[in-house]
Formats: sequence, C-alpha cells, structure tokens
Amino acid sequence: QAGPGGAVPKAAGVPGVKQIIAVASGKGGVGKSTTTANLAVALATLGLKVGVLDADIYGPSVPKIFGISGKPRLVSGRTLAPMEAYGLKIMSIGFLIDEETPMIWRGPMVISAITQMLREVAWGELDVLVVDMPPGTGDAQLTMAQQTPLAGAVIVSTPQDLALLDARRGVAMFRKVEVPILGIVENMSYFVCPECGHRSDIFAHGGARHEAERQGVPFLGEIPLAMPIRETSDGGRPIVASDPDSAHAKAYLAIARQV
Ligand code: ADP
Repeated sequence: QAGPGGAVPKAAGVPGVKQIIAVASGKGGVGKSTTTANLAVALATLGLKVGVLDADIYGPSVPKIFGISGKPRLVSGRTLAPMEAYGLKIMSIGFLIDEETPMIWRGPMVISAITQMLREVAWGELDVLVVDMPPGTGDAQLTMAQQTPLAGAVIVSTPQDLALLDARRGVAMFRKVEVPILGIVENMSYFVCPECGHRSDIFAHGGARHEAERQGVPFLGEIPLAMPIRETSDGGRPIVASDPDSAHAKAYLAIARQV
C-alpha cells in the first residue's frame, strides 16, 4: 500500500537486531556469497554479534560456505532456531525451500520467506545481520530491498564493464528505496601467480573504484582472485575464519572496518 508520498512504508525493525545490512550484486557469480560470509566472520572478529541471512532464492550457497548440513529446529510455535558456525547465527532460504521448487514459484515466495526468516527466527541479540541478497535488480530484489528494514547495502562487483553496468543498476535500485549505499567491493580484482608472483588483471582492474567515484559512494576495497579463497569457501570454512592472518583475510577485515 502506498503511503502519503506514494512510497511503500518501511517494514518495522527486527527486535534484538541492531542493524541489517544487505550484500548485493547486479548479477550472479561475482562472489557475493563469498564476500557475505567473509565479511560476516570479519565483523565477528571485530567483536560484534553477527548473524547471516541467506536470502538468495536463486542459489542459496551460505550453508555450503559455512559447512552446515541439517535443518534448523523449531523452538516454539513457528519460530526456528538459527544454525551456528564460527560464532555466527545463520539462516538460509536453502533450509526452507527445496531445490526442486520451480524458479517461477520462488519469486512470490520471496516476501513470505524473507518475513519468516527475519521475524520467525530466534536471532537473539545481534549487532548486525548480514543479508545475502539474490543477485540482480528485478522485482524480487526490489521488493526484498523495500520490505527489509535495511541500514545499508554493500555492492559486490568484478572489474568487468558488464558487471559494473549491473552494479550501477544495483546502486540505483537501493537508492530508489532509500537504502544508503555503504560502498562497492571489487572482487576478483587481480590475480597474483603463487608460483612466480606475476600479476594478471584477469577481469581488468580498478573499474569498481572508478564506478564508486562516479556514483559518489565509498569504495570499500579490492579482493584478489585467489585459489585459497575459493578452496576455503568450497570447504565450508571461509578464509577469514580458517586463515585469519593471511593477506586475504586482512583484506576482508579492512572492508569490515568500513561498513
Ligand atoms: P555469487 O554469490 O555472486 O553467485 P559466489 O560467492 O558463489 O558468487 O562465488 C562464485 C564462485 O567464485 C565460487 O566458487 C567462489 O568460491 C568463487 N570465488 C568468489 N570470490 C572469489 C575470489 N576472490 N577468489 C577466488 N574464487 C572466488
């Protein structure tokens, strides 16, 4: 229902949760979930109580990245207990929809699913809840951005022109629903050969910083394309948790300090 200014009224906050931030991308495959997971662990390393809500209806990958199997249990009535890993509270749409559900049904499920994951999960006291958004800027994403009481959004992009174009649409989408842009992260920013130290800018380099300047939003940092980042994610132990002293983990920590 439209309010006086034609705007849809914002959903109320979630009791016990101080801030909700979205991690979004204009398109899939740019490393949004990997960034969400590592950013969440990094925020916890900084001493915050952190939750992760995986709202990626098209491909929920947070359970795998955190090595979670099994299903959340009911604590009372309809309320689910979040799963836990590395000191984080975790809930995923992957626990609620089965993979066989046709994509066409997932769109309409978005609102009830997001509402359920926000309000019918026993999050407890959290300083920050990090939401892994579905990639893209379609209706489902817009509705989600509108219905979730977001304090801000982080946009993940690769340096490629096409990804940046999509990232620009992401910035525009959040602006439309008046969610502040916390900044842009350049993922797969460059590659340094672990054998010889030669650096290759596989997807070009610096595009996201340039785009952030263009849009007048903060540039949060660069994450290289690196085998250990992929391996730790696939192995269910994000690099910030499994190798916190590595340069890669430090890059995520530097981003966490800014959001
Ligand atoms: P998205 O959520 O945007 O679809 P994912 O986070 O699932 O993307 O990443 C897609 C794939 O790329 C995954 O296999 C992931 O492990 C890998 N990946 C993401 N970021 C990096 C990186 N910086 N270096 C190496 N591999 C990465």
